[in-house]
Amino acid sequence: LLQALVKAEKLEVVSHLAASISHEVRNPLTVSRGFMQLLHEDIPANKRTDYLNIAVRELDRAVEIISDYLTYAKPEAKGSEQIDVYKEIHHAVKVITPLANMNTVQIDLQKLNHENVCVLGERKLFEQCLMNIFKNGVEAMPHGGTLEISLVYYYSTIQINIRDTGEGMTEKQIQRLGEPYFTTKEKGTGLGMMVSFNIINRMNGKMSVSSEQGKGTCFSIELPVVYK
Ligand code: ADP
Ligand code: MG
Repeated sequence: LLQALVKAEKLEVVSHLAASISHEVRNPLTVSRGFMQLLHEDIPANKRTDYLNIAVRELDRAVEIISDYLTYAKPEAKGSEQIDVYKEIHHAVKVITPLANMNTVQIDLQKLNHENVCVLGERKLFEQCLMNIFKNGVEAMPHGGTLEISLVYYYSTIQINIRDTGEGMTEKQIQRLGEPYFTTKEKGTGLGMMVSFNIINRMNGKMSVSSEQGKGTCFSIELPVVYK
């Protein structure tokens, strides 16, 4: 059952992100088209090169957005492995950025340091957990705000903090967090948090939340560190 729910939740997120991805891809394509159109005109050779370079760069950008999304959407290679937390967070941030842009949410990574710290788990599941928490954060800020992702390293433990400046939760909502089908959203599934708690448990970690209504929410995930 759990596996089925993990899958259902993943499909939901993948399809939800699709709209923001196509929106985000349209920008570089439009810019690229514009510069290519200019090449029809009589312009100096050095300008032509500039325009062509811009057109190519923008096309590369479009490919990158799509590739990041597809790597996330791809089904999982199973089995535990060492996961570089910093790298994994960066990847999840890339995938969520189009949705954040659509919601005028800034992603603050200034306190994201500690490269090369590894934890043990199934990469795709961990990614799914991060994505759901990031997505919830963005969705909690319909009028914009900041999603801050930071890492604190305690040698045997690494702590991931995901803080938003969104609507926050009531005491009652906090208590129900992780309960299957608990959602306050019109089109929510209420599966994301349940799946995320389970994934963190499977990695021998723990997740806690602090939230204040009208101020925001902070999720903290603590995971045991493994050494290479
Ligand atoms: P869904 O996102 O489909 O509603 P989740 O399991 O991901 O389901 O989240 C359950 C509920 O927890 C949300 O509907 C929301 O009420 C609450 N929640 C989760 N994260 C946040 C957050 N960052 N800020 C405010 N509320 C949140
Ligand atoms: Mg969710």
